[in-house]
Amino acid sequence: MVSLAEAARERGIKYFLISYTDLFGAQRGKLVPAAAIAEMQENGAGFAGFATWLDMTPAHPDLFAKPDPASLVQLPWKPEVGWLAANLWMEGQEVAQAPRNLLRRLIAQAADDGVALRTGVECEFFLTTPDGMAISDPADRAAKPCYDASALMRRYDIITEISDAMLALGWGPYQSDHEDANGQFEMNWHYADALVTADRHAFFKFMAKSIAEKHGLRATFMPKPFPLLTGNGCHAHVSLWRGDENLFSDPSGALGISATGYHFIGGIIAHAEALCALLNPTVNSYKRINAPRTTSGATWSPNTITYAGNNRTHMIRIPDPGRFELRLADGAVNPYLLPAALLAAGMEGVSAKRDPGQRLDINMYTDGHRVTDARRLPLNLLDALRALEASSVLKAALGDEFCAAYGRLKRAEWDDYARHLTQWERDTTLDC
Ligand code: ADP
Ligand code: MG
Ligand code: MG
Ligand code: MG
Ligand code: MG
Repeated sequence: MVSLAEAARERGIKYFLISYTDLFGAQRGKLVPAAAIAEMQENGAGFAGFATWLDMTPAHPDLFAKPDPASLVQLPWKPEVGWLAANLWMEGQEVAQAPRNLLRRLIAQAADDGVALRTGVECEFFLTTPDGMAISDPADRAAKPCYDASALMRRYDIITEISDAMLALGWGPYQSDHEDANGQFEMNWHYADALVTADRHAFFKFMAKSIAEKHGLRATFMPKPFPLLTGNGCHAHVSLWRGDENLFSDPSGALGISATGYHFIGGIIAHAEALCALLNPTVNSYKRINAPRTTSGATWSPNTITYAGNNRTHMIRIPDPGRFELRLADGAVNPYLLPAALLAAGMEGVSAKRDPGQRLDINMYTDGHRVTDARRLPLNLLDALRALEASSVLKAALGDEFCAAYGRLKRAEWDDYARHLTQWERDTTLDC
């Protein structure tokens, strides 16, 4: 194993930021001086689990975050700091509900079958004023703002600072653009093994927020920060490999997708309602899916549990042979629970040889009403959580401990929301 103390000497790292992502996707960390890293590498950095979203109590013993040296990244905007993703331990055991542990467990199970998931993610975000109340660029007002070159160039300093960082880190970034909402951007880098992409996804969010803040702005991945504008999606591109062989690729299959690929898609389709509890994890998430048309003309997000060829109006799109795109997840998705959910549902589909049903090559936004039996996505977080609670398949794959912990915290969040009195209620009910 790489010695972090040695890495610090070689690379001029003064501090390590040992970090982990909790169940709500928040990133936690401790700064550890290089002189103390050897002991921390061995035993982990100590945390109080109750103080973060892990469904623990104040009576729980210490939680230890053991850094994974393979994840080491020197902060491009402060290279004297070495960022590390960590795995959580308590009393000599891996914490079952910790998102990175869950993903590693599912990756190991797939490896027992000789297969590995590879994913690419598209993390859309808005650049807003520091208070998050408005987009940052008052001139960004076009009715069809997607790919707006001038609005993109007005944010050149931030976008290229992030892109330069990804180039230096070897992630293979290949394009950045202004997206479909005013104030919205997307930056793409090359796909990789699911754990590598998950760590990069977690780091990308941290980096985009940190660099935007440095420039006096705020980056938000909130699913639907502005009701009339397109929301922040987090599309996932997915393929399954045995060594160098892409198991989703078959030139003789429909759209170049193999039977295994369709079975995997079948698993996602079969469990979609329950998957929403993980992929659309916030109250706000349901204002992105199932949304009315935005000012740009389309939401670009799904309403139904359907799939199609190269057509962006469905939950799943098959843009190219050998992979599919799941358009369901949003910017609030936990970077580790996204691939974990894909593995749980997709691998069950493969083992059960699930049929994804018929491909629908229609504009689902305008002609969806013609497909009367298309299942609708859940309309709110509570329905999604109930679907997860009712899914014996996903509970078996994700583990009872994880599902219980996640369900308890998310139910409490829903209850908190339900108690909140909104202006809409006053507007519609005051004169009842
Ligand atoms: P689009 O906007 O058309 O949906 P993007 O170019 O924004 O697509 O993102 C595509 C993502 O898919 C990238 O991360 C890319 O590396 C990834 N990708 C390409 N091929 C595969 C594959 N075989 N398996 C997994 N991801 C892939
Ligand atoms: Mg203390
Ligand atoms: Mg894209
Ligand atoms: Mg996009
Ligand atoms: Mg996409």
